[in-house]
Amino acid sequence: MTGGARSFDTRLDARSRAFLGRDPLPLLMGGREVPALGGETRTLHYPATGEALAQVCEGGVADAEAAVRAARRAFDTGPWPRLAPAARSLLLEKLATLMDRDARMLAELGTLETGKPIAESSGDVARATDGVRFYAAAARMCRGETIPLSEHLSIGTVREPLGVIAAIVPWNVPLVLTVSKSAPALAAGNAVVVKPSEGTPLTAIALGLLATEAGFPEGVFNVVTGTGATVGHFLTHCDGVDGVTFTGGTATGRIVASAAAATHKRVQAELGGKSPNLVFADANLDAAIRGAASAIFYGQGEICSAGSRLLVEQSVFDRVVEGVVARARALRVGDPLDPRTEMGALISRSHLQSVCGHVERAVKDGARIAVGGGALTIPGFEAGAFMAPTVLVDVGVGSAAEQEEIFGPVLVALPFRDEAEALRIANGTRYGLGSGIWTADTARARRMARGMRAGVVWINTFNLFDTSVPFGGVKASGGGSREWSHLALDSFVEVKTIWEQT
Ligand code: NDP
Repeated sequence: MTGGARSFDTRLDARSRAFLGRDPLPLLMGGREVPALGGETRTLHYPATGEALAQVCEGGVADAEAAVRAARRAFDTGPWPRLAPAARSLLLEKLATLMDRDARMLAELGTLETGKPIAESSGDVARATDGVRFYAAAARMCRGETIPLSEHLSIGTVREPLGVIAAIVPWNVPLVLTVSKSAPALAAGNAVVVKPSEGTPLTAIALGLLATEAGFPEGVFNVVTGTGATVGHFLTHCDGVDGVTFTGGTATGRIVASAAAATHKRVQAELGGKSPNLVFADANLDAAIRGAASAIFYGQGEICSAGSRLLVEQSVFDRVVEGVVARARALRVGDPLDPRTEMGALISRSHLQSVCGHVERAVKDGARIAVGGGALTIPGFEAGAFMAPTVLVDVGVGSAAEQEEIFGPVLVALPFRDEAEALRIANGTRYGLGSGIWTADTARARRMARGMRAGVVWINTFNLFDTSVPFGGVKASGGGSREWSHLALDSFVEVKTIWEQT
C-alpha cells in the first residue's frame, strides 16, 4: 500500500516492506495467487496506531468454493496424499527452512497485524517453525498396526488422510495457530484451506507463499481471506470439506460444530477459557507472583489459556495480590516494535471497549480495581488500543467477571480457605482449558491436579507450551481432541481396517 510514510515503515525489514507493498495481497489457491472474484479488498490497520497497514483481497463464498475445488482436486487426483511420507516430510522441512530465512519478516507481520510486542511475535515464529519441523518428522510416523486374530486371517489397519480440511483461525496467535492446524493435516496427507481471521491474515498469507516457494503441489495449501459469516460459513457447510479444525470463541465453536454435524464433517475445536491459577500459602510466593502476572498479562491477556482467575489461600491473599499489582505497575506497555516492550496494543479499539466494558460491569457488581481498570494513552500512539494491566478484587464467585472470558489483561483475584473450596471455585465455570497450582507440597499438587476439570494443569509454572506436548480443553473449552504433539494427527486421519483371508 502506498501513500505517506507511516510511523513503522523505516523500522521494518526490507522483506516486510516488500510484502506489505503488494497491493492488494492475494488469495492463494491451486498453487496460484489470485484476486477475489468479486474484486473486493479490505484495508488492515495497525492496532497500535490505527494506521493503514496493507490491502488484502476480500474473499467471499465464490472464492471459498474455488479454493475447496482446488483442494479437492489436489486430494482426489493430485500427488500429495499418494506421496511417500518421506517426500511430504521433506517439503515440510523445506517450509521450516524458509520460515527460518524469513523469521524477522514473519515476526514483524505478526506484530503489525495483532499489536503484540515484537519479542512475543519472535517467540511465535520460533514456535510455529518448530511446529512445522515436528510434523515434518511426524509425517513418517503416521502408520497402522497388524492384529493377529487367527492363522488364516491377516488383519491390518492403515491411517489414511481425511481429505480436505478447513482450518479456521482466530486473531490472537495467527501464525502459531495456522501451523497447529495445517501442519499435522498436511503431514497426514490432507489438502488444507486456511481461513484466517478477517483482521489478521498477513502471516497466513506469508506462510502460504512460502509453501508455494517450498514446492508444495498445487491445491495442497490454500488461503482464503474473508469473514467468518461468508468464507467461514461456507467452509463449514459445504460438502467438499471433510474436516474442520477451528479455534475461536465458544459461541462460534457451537455454530461451527452444528454446521459440521449436518454435513458429517470431523471437527477439532479449541475454544475459550477462564483458567484458574491457584496459589497456596506454602508456595514460593515470589515465583507464584511472577507466574500469576505473566499468566494474565502475556499476550495482553488475549490468550485462550490466560490465567485470568487468581485464587489465593486467604492467609497470603493480600501479599500475593500486592505483588501482582506491583508487577502490573512495572510492566512496559507501549510501542510493539520496541524489543523491550512487554505489553502491546489489544487487537482493536472495539475490543478494547469490550474489555473495558467487562471491568465497568464488574465494578457495578461490587468489584474494586486494585490497579489499572481502563484504556491507556501512550505518547506517540494516541490512537492505539492500549489497556492498563488490571487487577480486580472483591469479585464475587459466580459473578460475570469471575465466570466470563474477558480476553484482555484483566485478572480477577479471589481468596480461598482450603483445598476443597479452591477446587470448587476453580471448577465452577463452564470452561476447562488451563489451570495452575503453586505449592511446595508435591502430594497436594498431585491431588489438586487430579481434581482439576481442565485439559492442562501446570504445577509451579503456567502457560508453558511445546510442539511435542498435547494442548486442549474440556467442557466448553473444546474437548474430544488435542492440538500439537502426535495426538493432533488423530484429528486428520481415518483408520481403515483391511481383513485378508489367507
Ligand atoms: P471467533 O470465534 O470470533 O473467530 C474465530 C474464527 O472463526 C475467525 O476466523 C472467524 O472469522 C471465524 N468465524 C466467525 N464466525 C464464523 C462462522 N459463523 N462460521 C465459521 N467461522 C466463523 O474468535 P476470535 O477470532 O474473536 O478469537 C478469540 C476467541 O478464540 C476467544 O474466545 C479465545 O478464547 C479463543 N481462542 C481459543 C484458543 C484455544 O486454543 N482454545 C486459542 C486462541 C483463541 P472472522 O474473524 O473473520 O469473523
